[in-house]
This record gives sequence, structure tokens and C-alpha cells, in this order.
Amino acid sequence: MSSTLNKETEQNLFFHNYARLPLAISHGSGVWLYDQDGNRYLDMIAGIGVNALGYGDERLIDAICEQSKNIIHASNLFLLEPQFRLASRLLDISGLSKVFFSNSGTEAVEAAIKLSRKWASTTGSPDKKEVLSLSNCFHGRTYGAMSLTAKAKYLEGFDPLLPGTGSIEFNNVADLDNKVSDNTAAVFVEFIQGEGGIHRVSEPFVERLKELQKKHDFLIVADEIQAGCGRTGRFFSYQHFDITPDLVCAAKPLGGGLPLGAVIGSARVEDVFSAGNHGTTFGGNPVACAAGHALIEALYSDRIMENVEATGAWMKSALEELAERHKQILEIRQYGLMIGITVHREAAYYVQEALKRNVLVNATSQDVIRMLPPLTLSTEEASQCIDCLDEIFSNEQ
Ligand SMILES: *Cc1c(COP(=O)(O)O)cnc(C)c1O
Repeated sequence: MSSTLNKETEQNLFFHNYARLPLAISHGSGVWLYDQDGNRYLDMIAGIGVNALGYGDERLIDAICEQSKNIIHASNLFLLEPQFRLASRLLDISGLSKVFFSNSGTEAVEAAIKLSRKWASTTGSPDKKEVLSLSNCFHGRTYGAMSLTAKAKYLEGFDPLLPGTGSIEFNNVADLDNKVSDNTAAVFVEFIQGEGGIHRVSEPFVERLKELQKKHDFLIVADEIQAGCGRTGRFFSYQHFDITPDLVCAAKPLGGGLPLGAVIGSARVEDVFSAGNHGTTFGGNPVACAAGHALIEALYSDRIMENVEATGAWMKSALEELAERHKQILEIRQYGLMIGITVHREAAYYVQEALKRNVLVNATSQDVIRMLPPLTLSTEEASQCIDCLDEIFSNEQ
């Protein structure tokens, strides 16, 4: 069978669950991706928000090479120094108490669901089982995480879902009041929703959630898989609010491009799991943890979160200027380098037009152009993206 990298061969080889761009990637450098023909693309997607340092960061590569020479995999039967190093760093940053490492975002969410129910089982309320999430959220593709993802197109045909899950309307305080009760074990929140189109939870909603937590005693779980690791200018997006969650899920950039997720928990839940309650063969892989540690070192030593704030703010004003001239832009939402642009037609049109001009953006929520560029993006590079969008909007048919 031929292994030519084109859409036709792709359709022959793989299940049809991805809508891949017809782009055969060869390598990357900085914020640029190269295809097999040597064409260069400005990457405003960064492996779906994973490649925080862009491509080719020497510190990341060195950490991966060095750790690979020591050991690539050992399992969680042993004490592994890279896990210790990364876990300490995550606890310092969050002020929380314990870490569990997974391989992916959805597995971090699964672990958080299990932790929530196990914690609830110790409270003496036998009906405290319910796990709630917000409308328009995204928490992952495995059954638990998918059951929390209140979006019809992700669920169709896959029922029955996990029982004891439910949805609260995003930023609707009255609905929050109605849905939360003594039977609530946990509420999962993306403080800034990613797949849902870059929407920020409101302050009044968060304040009410905290009040209700005091009344009904449940866990608040922050899903920081997309908005975390510096993406919004703080390490975690919940740090823009006056709140400390009981559980925090991280993944996407956490392993510096290698598969890694984590659940970080507060003192309240630190003794919920005992040996054998939960586990994974690969989770906390030492090479991924070494890469994750190098990523975090770089984020702080290069003051990358300051760059996120500066470049993000620059992009916002440049986009606002575009919106004055191009009525196709309906709304701009920008939190650091997490950017959503609501447009007047299917965002997929703009993805294709940008691709023709060697700029990679993607579409989410039908009518939202989403950008999650490397956190190292300069304003000079960002301006190339703005120029591209300007040209597309100007020439739109
Ligand atoms: C991507 C994502 C997930 C799922 O992570 P995977 O690594 O793809 O399993 C969960 N929650 C949020 C907010 C995400 O953006």
C-alpha cells in the first residue's frame, strides 16, 4: 500500500474521525511549520495549544535527549526523579497539595471525576454522586469526560453516557442555583472555555459558585487543559479570579509536546486515593516529565507570560482595528494568546483562505476563528497574521 501523504491515502488508512488539513508536515522552527515541499506556514494553532515554546527549543530537546539516555519508561512501580521535579514545581505554582500524572487531558478529567466521587463517598451523604459541568464546555473524549461535554455533536450515537452527570447553563447564576444541591459531588469549570469558542466565566458566576460550595459542600474542578500553562498570561486561568479550586486538570502543553496530563489536588482531597484506587502504565512518563519541567523553567526564565500579555494585547487592538473596517467580524475575545473571533459565516472558510496564504488558524464552534499560537509569538510575527486576515476580509466573496 502506498504511503503518499495525501487525503486519499489518509482516507484509506485511517478511521474517518479527523478532518485533517491537506498539509504534509515535515518540521518546525520557532513559530513556523514547514511542509514536505519546503513551504513555510505561520502556526497560530501550535498543535492545538500544545507547542507553547514553538518548535526547536534547545532546552526542551536537551531535556528529552538527556532523560532518554537515562531511561525512557519505568512505570509507576518506582520512584522517578523527573516526576518528583515536575510535581514539586506544579505544587509551588498552584499552592495545592498532591499530584497525579496521566498521559492526556481526558485522562486527567477521568481521574478528577473518580477523585470527586470517591471524595463524596467519604462525606456521609450517600446520594452525593452528581458531577456537573457548564454548557458549551469541552472536557474530553473518553466516556466520563465526554459525558461532561454538553455538546450534541460530540455525543450523538454514543449513549448511554455516564449516569449522574448534568449541565449548568454557562454564566447563568439562576441555573447554577437550581442545579447545585447536596447531591453535587463536583462542578467542572473551564474558567476560559476553549473548544466552546473562547468564553470567560463571569465574576458573579464564580462568586455564587463559591457561596454554593460553602452551603452544599462539593468540589470545584478547574479544567486548565487548554487555558493553563501560561496561555492566558497567568500560569492557570483560574488565577485571574479570586478562587482556589479543589482539583486542577492540566495537559496539552504540560509535557512540552510529549503526552502528559496532571490532576493537582488541594489538602481537602489529598487522602482520597489509596494504593490501587487509580493508576496508569504510562502516566508520568519520565521523558515527558523532564520535558514538562524544562518547559516550565523556560516559561519563567524567559518571562514568557509577560510576552503572552504584551503580544495578546497587541493582537487585540490590531483585531479591533480590523473589525472597524471589516463588518464580517462580529466579536473578538482575547485572553493572553487564547483568541477567538466570531465571524458572520462558517469559520472554516477563513481557515481555508488563511491556509492558501500560509497562515494556520482553526475553527471551533462553527463561527469562531480560534488562535492558540506559541506563547513565544512576537508582535512582528503576529502582525503577519493580522495582515493575512486583513487581506482575506478585504477580498471576501
Ligand atoms: C483538549 C482538552 C481536553 C482533552 O484533552 P486530550 O489530551 O485531547 O484528551 C480536555 N479539556 C479541555 C479544556 C481541552 O481543551
